[in-house]
Amino acid sequence: MHVITTVAEMQHISQEAFRNNQTVGCVPTMGALHAGHASLISAAAKENPVVVVSIFVNPTQFGPNEDFETYPRTLEADIQIASQAGATHIFAPSVKEMYPNGTSTKIVVAGVADLWEGASRPGHFSGVATVVCKLFQAMLPTVAYFGQKDYQQTRVVQQMATSLLLPVRISVQPTAREANGLAMSSRNIYLTPEQRKYARVINAALRAASDTGSGHRSGVEQTMLNTLASYPDFVVDYACAADAQTLELHDEYPPGAQVVLMIAGKLGTTRLIDNHLYVVH
Ligand code: AMP
Repeated sequence: MHVITTVAEMQHISQEAFRNNQTVGCVPTMGALHAGHASLISAAAKENPVVVVSIFVNPTQFGPNEDFETYPRTLEADIQIASQAGATHIFAPSVKEMYPNGTSTKIVVAGVADLWEGASRPGHFSGVATVVCKLFQAMLPTVAYFGQKDYQQTRVVQQMATSLLLPVRISVQPTAREANGLAMSSRNIYLTPEQRKYARVINAALRAASDTGSGHRSGVEQTMLNTLASYPDFVVDYACAADAQTLELHDEYPPGAQVVLMIAGKLGTTRLIDNHLYVVH
């Protein structure tokens, strides 16, 4: 498959698709593709004749002590996975191509971006919003596919796209999981086999809490913490039951309210996140 590296060529391909009345689906990724990414690509391929997978390890969304330098870069294997899942094009630009004027221009999304991952990783969501906006300018997608795995990211991207009047539909796809329930992630390769086995506790905690269907926040959060306590190596950053739209906390959620349970924490040096959505009974 031809790998596109310049914004100009990428835009040309999408504009050509529009001239032919074809929609363009895009799947923004940082590479190190796994079955979770493949499920987004398959969803895009079902709905669009042109499917662009971007592979770009975005420096501006990593904090100073995070894993930008060591983040897995596996372009050849990624091309295989993407094409098997139905991608028609790969867009893999350089940092210089994506940031021709350095990082002086930024998008800051207020509200949903300030909480949770935003609080634990200052500047992270500004980096995400900025690069997603730039990737949209390059790929000119009709629809962009994101994983529920990064739930807060989907809320940030949706808010950014709405605020900036971007003519892109945002499609959120379910989280792909390992057989034991662990959410697939490019960072799972950092885990030892033992850690990978016990990391199932995160999904187990989410499931135990969402199964209650309860709107009583402290009880729901305690249910998650009780399950997580069975594997003390997982150091919890937060385990919250938040309003699924605003990500804010309320003591009680009424019947019919949609709640998102979000867990983040560290297993050794590896930060893991996961979430479940449910409707209060
Ligand atoms: P990343 O390469 O980690 O930036 O992820 C690229 C896209 O794939 C994002 O929209 C993620 O939410 C999505 N993604 C990552 N892991 C999964 C998964 N396990 N299931 C579904 N989507 C995922």
